[in-house]
Amino acid sequence: MGNKRKRQVRGIKIQNINICMILISCILYVLLIVATVDASHRYKVMISAMGNYINCEEDAALVKEASDYLTEQVRLYTVTMDPVYVDRYFNEVYVEKRREIAMDQMSYYHTNAMAYEYFHTALENSDKLMEQEIYAMKLITIAQGYEMSDFPEDIREYTILEEDQFLSPDEMTEKARNLVFSSEYQKAKEDISGNVSYFLDNIIDNTMQEQQKSVVDLKRTMTGQQILISVLFVENILMFVLIILLVIKPLKIYIENIEDKEKLSVLGSYEFKYLALTYNNIYELNATNEAMLHYRAEHDPLTGIINRGAFDRLRQLLKGKQAPLALLIIDVDKFKQINDGFGHEMGDQVLKKVARLLEESFRSTDYIARIGGDEFAVIMTDVREDMKPLISDKIKQINDDLQHPGDDLAKTSLSVGIVFSSAGFPEDLYTKADKALYNVKENGRCGCVFYDEKE
Ligand code: GH3
Ligand code: MG
Repeated sequence: MGNKRKRQVRGIKIQNINICMILISCILYVLLIVATVDASHRYKVMISAMGNYINCEEDAALVKEASDYLTEQVRLYTVTMDPVYVDRYFNEVYVEKRREIAMDQMSYYHTNAMAYEYFHTALENSDKLMEQEIYAMKLITIAQGYEMSDFPEDIREYTILEEDQFLSPDEMTEKARNLVFSSEYQKAKEDISGNVSYFLDNIIDNTMQEQQKSVVDLKRTMTGQQILISVLFVENILMFVLIILLVIKPLKIYIENIEDKEKLSVLGSYEFKYLALTYNNIYELNATNEAMLHYRAEHDPLTGIINRGAFDRLRQLLKGKQAPLALLIIDVDKFKQINDGFGHEMGDQVLKKVARLLEESFRSTDYIARIGGDEFAVIMTDVREDMKPLISDKIKQINDDLQHPGDDLAKTSLSVGIVFSSAGFPEDLYTKADKALYNVKENGRCGCVFYDEKE
């Protein structure tokens, strides 16, 4: 029974929607987390590209500063002849080592091969220039007649060119100054600066490219995030709409139905439709039971016509009415003899037959009731006194039928007392009809008497 009903129900299952929504939400949230992690990664790439460029720029500045410092010291030495500048020069070369530090750091930074090449060339050129500078310092040291052992190994060991060995101190000084102030020296310096600039330009290009790529990627990721958030928003709205349509709306209607004592409207989700059908089945069963109980309370179980209780209620109802009516009180003649002679079962069959004949003879608008053991009553509505012959005829017909039965039932007859009322069902109407019935019984039974006020 339950399965049969299940098959009849069609509709969206809240349970399935719930599972779908949970799955979709999980997928969307996971994608959103991935997109957010990706966005933060892109952002870090952008920031680190910038940091990388700043580091490279600092290193380039370090190389340039160190190179300029060496030039400055060597030039000062050739001009002032003060050995302190030699000390400072070699302090830079061996202690400060800014160019080497820059080169070391460069290996940790993110550079391309070409940029590295420019940087390396700048350092090589710087190294070459240093040889020229050391030679200039050696010439000054010799020209000044300084004790060579007081000077660093680089100067001591540097071999003087044959052509310069016989120069006078002034010529040596002149040559040394030439070496570090000449336009060739200046050009070599500019070459170093040029290479450093190329290196930086290259790094800038690289950084820009990386940043542009990161910006494009970041934009794409953020567009993805926006789409995901929009889909989540739509999903939420859809869920609210579905809850309203599938749950809240049917619930409201069901409450109205229950308050109005109606069957439930089959609507909403599968679960609600199923609930409505189950409720409606119980509702119908209860309604049938109630109708049956009501029918039983109103009807006589043997004959099926209305019983004494219903007849009395009808009397009360008709009491105050203005419509004319006629009351017939009917009693089966010598019914005890049927019971005694043919058995109780035969008596029952005769009672059923009487009820049936009464129902057949009177109109559907008349009320036929069993008001006692072998006693019946008929309330004829919308009836006038000129209908007496018609009523007598009906009774005669029934008595003919009962006295000449076409079946195996025992013969019998009816005595009927009749009274008319011009308006409703007055209190004494029953007594009057009973009196008329008594007359019939007194006068030999089997027939009818109309109650006469004059008697
Ligand atoms: P009268 O002509 O004077 O009415 O005589 P009567 O024998 O019919 O007398 P009365 O009307 O008093 O008898 C009614 C009998 O009906 C008494 C009772 O045993 C019988 N009876 C009452 N209810 C039933 C019933 O449901 N079935 C049967 N078979 N008999 C019933
Ligand atoms: Mg009787």
